Amino acid sequence: MTPALLPLAPPAPIRLLDLPAQHAAIQAELDAALHRVLQEGAFIQGPDVQLFADELGQYLGGARVVPCANGTDALQLALMSLGLAPGDEVIVPAFTYVATAEAAAILGLRPVPADVDPRTFNLDPAAAAAAITPRTRAMLCVHLYGQCADLTALRQLADAHGLALIEDNAQAIGATWQLPDGTAAYAGTVGEVGTTSFFPSKNLGCLGDGGALLTRDEARATVLYELANHGQARGRKYVHQRLGLNSRLDTLQAALLRVKLTRLAEWTAARQRVAAQYDALLADVPGLLVPLRQPGSTHVFHQYTLTLNSEARRDALQQHLQRHGIPSVVYYPVPVHRQPAYEYLGYQAGQFSVAEQLCRTVLSLPIHPGLTAAQVEYVAAVVRMENW
Ligand SMILES: *Cc1c(COP(=O)(O)O)cnc(C)c1O
Repeated sequence: MTPALLPLAPPAPIRLLDLPAQHAAIQAELDAALHRVLQEGAFIQGPDVQLFADELGQYLGGARVVPCANGTDALQLALMSLGLAPGDEVIVPAFTYVATAEAAAILGLRPVPADVDPRTFNLDPAAAAAAITPRTRAMLCVHLYGQCADLTALRQLADAHGLALIEDNAQAIGATWQLPDGTAAYAGTVGEVGTTSFFPSKNLGCLGDGGALLTRDEARATVLYELANHGQARGRKYVHQRLGLNSRLDTLQAALLRVKLTRLAEWTAARQRVAAQYDALLADVPGLLVPLRQPGSTHVFHQYTLTLNSEARRDALQQHLQRHGIPSVVYYPVPVHRQPAYEYLGYQAGQFSVAEQLCRTVLSLPIHPGLTAAQVEYVAAVVRMENW
């Protein structure tokens, strides 16, 4: 490895994400949206909520979008729409943010972890197939870090066993998957229901909590809408069709999201440029792997995640980066089956060995649309130093 020349300090402070800078660039539009909602006074289910849902649906190739309060509620509502019974099993990846399993567990369903692919970080279809039992009713896949899980294999598996497929698309809004017929589908629209989150740090983030459900099925969209609004029949006030939640996206957040949605394609392209530059500068570094590009998927790079060859090397790289003013994060340090809250499921250490190994060896570098080429070069130069 050729030692790179290293600037003494980062060209500008490097952050994991830089929302103030992102917002400054669209300040006038955000201010106008804010003031308009203040004047209109319709803070719950105001016109912006449906307008945002329609605009996001157009962005996602004509999907139906049902806004809700956050990405975790979206997962819960998606599962509620399936009419499952307590104890029914839902297959989830062992390597994910905890919300994926939590949504099933809180409904009295049984989350059944299955291992992931070591290079794509996503649910391994063969492991998911092996986890199917007579009580399995659904598979919940996650498009981790911004890249689609193998939706062709998972769709086929779900269809072959009569299971529902739910896509947790909190990290991959706008990513696409190439279907067997050659057409591309947006992540979140291949399963019966897709879910997403507008948590501020997500690729499309609001200024608080927010989420949405995605579906191609009109009737299911109506059910999801009712579930998110106290089970109230659409258009029939105080008639409650089913048990639901109070899970709504604030009008204010919807208005702000409408502004941000107009920049999502541009921001995604900027993330992809950062990732391509990291790839070019880091692919030949011994002892680490740059993220694999899964054939068939585009990648919207919510995270740019390296895999090191041991936990000690991962921790050493994180400390080395820190000493040079570069933040990095381990998403995620503990797999679902090793979380204290999920001990009752009865799994053992070592049971999902890929997930456990990834928890010990992954490290996500800073990536956001405002990261400059000079900053990426500095991060890469620090990684390429030989003294860590
Ligand atoms: C962020 C996230 C969620 C939860 O979204 P909230 O809006 O914070 O509830 C769920 N799943 C994944 C994979 C996420 O990244």
